[in-house]
Amino acid sequence: MKPKVYITRKIPDEIVTKIEMECEIRMWNEPEIPVPREVLEKEIADAEGLFCLITETIDRELLEKARRLKVISNMAVGYNNIDIKAAKEKKIIVTNTPGVLTETTADLTFALLMATARRLVESSDYLRRGDWKTWSPMQLTGQDVYGATLGIIGMGRIGTALARRANGFDMKILYHNRSRKYQIENELNVKFAELETLLKESDFVCIMTPYSNETKGLISTRELSLMKNTAILINTARGGIVNEDDLYLALKKGTIWAAGLDVYEEEPISQDHPLLTLPNVVTIPHIGSASVKTRLKMAELAAENMMLVLKNEQPKNVVG
Ligand code: NAP
Repeated sequence: MKPKVYITRKIPDEIVTKIEMECEIRMWNEPEIPVPREVLEKEIADAEGLFCLITETIDRELLEKARRLKVISNMAVGYNNIDIKAAKEKKIIVTNTPGVLTETTADLTFALLMATARRLVESSDYLRRGDWKTWSPMQLTGQDVYGATLGIIGMGRIGTALARRANGFDMKILYHNRSRKYQIENELNVKFAELETLLKESDFVCIMTPYSNETKGLISTRELSLMKNTAILINTARGGIVNEDDLYLALKKGTIWAAGLDVYEEEPISQDHPLLTLPNVVTIPHIGSASVKTRLKMAELAAENMMLVLKNEQPKNVVG
């Protein structure tokens, strides 16, 4: 008998076909609406495999309802949506999809950095509103990227890929990480700095750590006040790493110059969130890994990890 699996969102047909060869599938068939909690609670009761996204909160209470679950396969590299301790206690293996999204997320992070520095969204809106009457010397002037200092907090896979891009722009690169990365320092001409030094000296600060108890609120009023008033904060890691109330005030008061955000404390961010009223914020809806090729690779890897566990084989990517 094929093992039963539950997939929490409509995923590409070709991946469904692959899973179907080895598993009995149930799937939440909506592409844009997350599975309601009560449906997930019911479906998880007899599933052996769960294929889920970051939009699902897999907490202890939910896992208590899972009687046969062997694997939770998250289609993401970050897994802060899953209670890893509770899963471990229940001997449920948790897997993620690192690596396949590294370059795509680094591309997006650099794109967001450039868009924020050169006010691309604001400029496009300006033109479309009909405000463009003439060329003028200081009109819509931004900050230079070329030759500027980039501070990367979290020199892991994506942080490193970002540093490679920054080298092409002749940027001076500082990084802060909980462990030193000597090989990367040598290969990519990046310099380790304490967090305070990085914040004080960088023109761009990019956050690339996972969200955890250690990184929750890592960037709050104190840290923002250390930054240059011409500096730009980019967050494509996870929302909760930056305190949004503090960020709003810092941007409003001119403590820092601008921010580019892909991730938020609550997703989707509410339409009346104060951050959305500021012209010096570029906001995009968590699209770091959103390229056609990469999303397919992520779905494929998540499927593979899930099926390997169900065949009692070693999955490619275990977390916790
Ligand atoms: P990774 O390779 O695990 O890199 C994370 C880095 O952060 C590691 O070097 C780690 O240090 C460092 N770190 C962890 N806690 C820290 C702390 N408290 N202080 C300083 N450094 C710390 O992960 P990745 O693949 O680069 O992904 C990073 C994060 O990006 C993911 O966790 C995810 O949340 C986010 N992400 C977002 C998107 C998006 O769509 N916006 C897409 C992909 C990923 P050690 O080497 O010492 O462990």
